Amino acid sequence: MNTPLGLAKDELTACVSCGLCLPHCPTYQVTQDESRSPRGRISLMRGVESGSLAITKEVIDSIDTCVQCMGCETACPSSVQYGSLIERTREALITERKLNLRLKVGLWVLLRMRLLMIGSRLLALIQRSGLLSNKFLPITSRIPLRSEKYKECVDPEVVFFTGCVMDAWLPKIHKSGLSILETLGIQYTVSGNTVGCCGALHNHAGLRSIAQEQATKVIAKLPPGLPILVDSAGCGAALKEYNKLLETEEAEKFSSRVYDIHEWLVNDPRWKELPPNKIEKKEKVIVQDPCHLRHVQGAHNSVRELLDPFVECVELDDEGLCCGAGGAFSLNQPEMSTKIRDLKLQSIKRAGGHIVVSANPGCMIHLETSGVEVLHPIQVIDKFMHRGETDD
Ligand code: SF4
Ligand code: SF4
Repeated sequence: MNTPLGLAKDELTACVSCGLCLPHCPTYQVTQDESRSPRGRISLMRGVESGSLAITKEVIDSIDTCVQCMGCETACPSSVQYGSLIERTREALITERKLNLRLKVGLWVLLRMRLLMIGSRLLALIQRSGLLSNKFLPITSRIPLRSEKYKECVDPEVVFFTGCVMDAWLPKIHKSGLSILETLGIQYTVSGNTVGCCGALHNHAGLRSIAQEQATKVIAKLPPGLPILVDSAGCGAALKEYNKLLETEEAEKFSSRVYDIHEWLVNDPRWKELPPNKIEKKEKVIVQDPCHLRHVQGAHNSVRELLDPFVECVELDDEGLCCGAGGAFSLNQPEMSTKIRDLKLQSIKRAGGHIVVSANPGCMIHLETSGVEVLHPIQVIDKFMHRGETDD
């Protein structure tokens, strides 16, 4: 029987309303409102599915204010598949929901790499001209004036996924990642502009069919068989979940060869064979776990393992609570996103206010715009690996 949201009944009834997820839900933490909690959202989904609840503005707002951080899924003792429930609900309500214009334009541009690159160069010029105050720009880091050209190896053993916004705005992180691979003698090719965007943000926004089209394109364009390394936690999570998005054997095989770059490196024998470094007094860095690395990929500890020889990792006291970036969440729900970020900033302050490392460009940009100094772990590792070599 067709239901308004098309959700599986057993997925909805798996939630026993215990509330153990509430402390891990950022939107509940900042509002203390049940309709902004996982339990409350599932209850609203149930009401709509059973026909006892109309699709009101309150229902839409509850669904739209979810960051999709998956903190609740990790915390849930009943293994409720919240991610699948919220994705499908957003998709089912796409005509009732209102995506703001900035988000719609942004999602449209992401699928057009040439346009994204041209637009980014313009943004880079505006940044340098001082014509617009920083608060009107989506990023505080300097966007490069030129597109990056990457070296490629003749006989690659891995594919390095370059994506879209990260390639246009933060290619210095990709360069650090590739420099580490080169130092270790790992031969690579890059996905590049012909592959472009992974479709993660489209799927988050509820535009599932566009995300599926993009996933099919990415799978077809990347060389078969090779492991795919990703230095953006959000993109890595999306590529690893193409199997769920497309539900095909091909997608299943594709997803099984996707690795976050940290989890790949930490298991690579060439990394393990690196000579011990000679850093006497290690700098402290605060490790902020992107939700897509911690709750979706479960690869967050690899970051610590890789950083450990070079810096002292300082932990936050918020048990991996989201920072409020949430893909395009900060564009569609700026107020909620800022309130959640404020919690993270307090936690960073309590941890000593050191430089923050975060393995996701969205989190980096979101935190940077509040004045926090943020680096990608790969940048830190690259810097110290090469400093170590010089010292020898
Ligand atoms: S989602 Fe899981 S943790 Fe949260 S209320 Fe339901 S059963 Fe409990
Ligand atoms: S995904 Fe995150 S924001 Fe959404 S209900 Fe779960 S914990 Fe709350």
